[in-house]
Amino acid sequence: MSTDYKAWRVEEQGGDYVGSEKILNTGDLPEGEVLIRVSHSSLNYKDALSASGNKGVTRNFPHTPGIDAAGEVVESSSDSITAGASVIVTGYDLGMNTDGGFGEYIRVPAAWCVPMPAGWNARTAMIYGTAGLTAGLCVQKLLKMGAAPEQGAVAVSGASGAVGSVAVELLSGLGFDVVAISGKADHAEDLKALGAKDVVGRDALSQEKKPLLKPVFANAVDTVGGTPLAEMLKQVKPGGSVSCCGLVAGPQLETTVLPFILRGVNLLGVDSVEIPLADKVSVWEKFAGEWACPKTEASARDIGRAELDGALKAFLKGESAGKIVLDHS
Ligand code: NDP
Repeated sequence: MSTDYKAWRVEEQGGDYVGSEKILNTGDLPEGEVLIRVSHSSLNYKDALSASGNKGVTRNFPHTPGIDAAGEVVESSSDSITAGASVIVTGYDLGMNTDGGFGEYIRVPAAWCVPMPAGWNARTAMIYGTAGLTAGLCVQKLLKMGAAPEQGAVAVSGASGAVGSVAVELLSGLGFDVVAISGKADHAEDLKALGAKDVVGRDALSQEKKPLLKPVFANAVDTVGGTPLAEMLKQVKPGGSVSCCGLVAGPQLETTVLPFILRGVNLLGVDSVEIPLADKVSVWEKFAGEWACPKTEASARDIGRAELDGALKAFLKGESAGKIVLDHS
């Protein structure tokens, strides 16, 4: 059975990429085992890249972005997922070259579907979204390396962003002293409310000639990459670790080996997209339990499809803050 649905669709128009609401049909969705009625999605930097025609994210247009989706299964040919189940889909190819959560329906492989954790609904899941999942994976890697509050402060760069803000609240809830590094002076109080002990400007990570600086951070979550990550590595204490997940400040990393060979600093790569489903499930279950971030949940902002354009452009300008949920109702 096929049905019409609404989607925020991006088209190429004379070299520009323009998003608008369109009526599509589920019969035109890609093949897959599970058809999901999406009630909520979540906004991410990668969605902004897709919507602006970044070919590294999305090759072909017209396209429906949305790397995150949550909703109800309406058809399934898989034994593992049944119609009526509530599921979360993040990452893999969703919203990249597979039509994503900015439409009211998606069709995906069963292997992409995470069962909704007990006590959660689609909106709660999408408050966290890929950004929350990524923050959780960053923190999990630090903990696996033995990071502990008594070692000293943990820095979070891009702290007001979607990944950074969840990392701030999660780490603070785990008892860490969090130093939030943010370019938004007017968000300092919000970051403190999320649990940051200190908030410092991006100049804490501005380019210095010296290959090593005074070590001030025991561990760190870096969501920006580029020069700020290189500068952060110079300031990590011996044996400390940095989880690295983003590139808003650039994909290049120019560093010497000195933080690694003189201080034993660990640079930990974090991918939330292609990892096994079981690794995603375990982080989702933690957020629905002992890792819950009530302040993030309370402060999330809901928007409709008509507000997507402006909200996505704010990501590209580095002006987005906190968690934004797309509500299809
Ligand atoms: P956001 O835009 O919400 O947050 C990024 C934050 O970084 C901004 O809010 C801003 O925070 C800061 N920032 C922006 N531009 C610059 C700049 N030029 N220099 C330094 N800081 C800057 O994005 P997300 O949180 O959604 O994503 C963050 C990064 O993580 C992105 O690169 C994204 O692609 C990546 N990512 C990676 C994933 C993975 O699986 N590895 C999954 C999800 C995201 P402030 O003003 O507070 O400094």
